Amino acid sequence: MRISWEQYALDIAQTASSRSEDHHVKVGACALNSQRMVVSVGYNGLASGKDVAYDFWRNRDHRRKFMIHAEVNCLSLFKKGEAQMLAVTLLPCSSCATMIAGYGISKVVYKDIYERDTIALEIFDFYNIECIKYGN
Ligand SMILES: [Zn+2]
Repeated sequence: MRISWEQYALDIAQTASSRSEDHHVKVGACALNSQRMVVSVGYNGLASGKDVAYDFWRNRDHRRKFMIHAEVNCLSLFKKGEAQMLAVTLLPCSSCATMIAGYGISKVVYKDIYERDTIALEIFDFYNIECIKYGN
């Protein structure tokens, strides 16, 4: 069986997430353009080259404010209008959702919801961004 483009992008996002150094939450993102070509991938983590002691990862609340979300890393690799679809392993947070809207992305595919944070659904609806939950 041939998988859909949504599943394809989500599978790539899932693979990208396994590169995350975050022990608690690993998130991956993959952007496709209107020709269904992969424009970018990203995962959550600290800025490139930033080294921290192992203890940093033990305090979940402390590390959270420093983390760069998978969507931000993914979006940083292309220009506005270059991607049509974004697949993310977790439903984006509200901050990433507004950034996704700003990038002109018209479709978001996700797999899971993080701690029942569903504000993104409202934001996507407001901006007429199609949002589809896949799997589970
Ligand atoms: Zn986010």
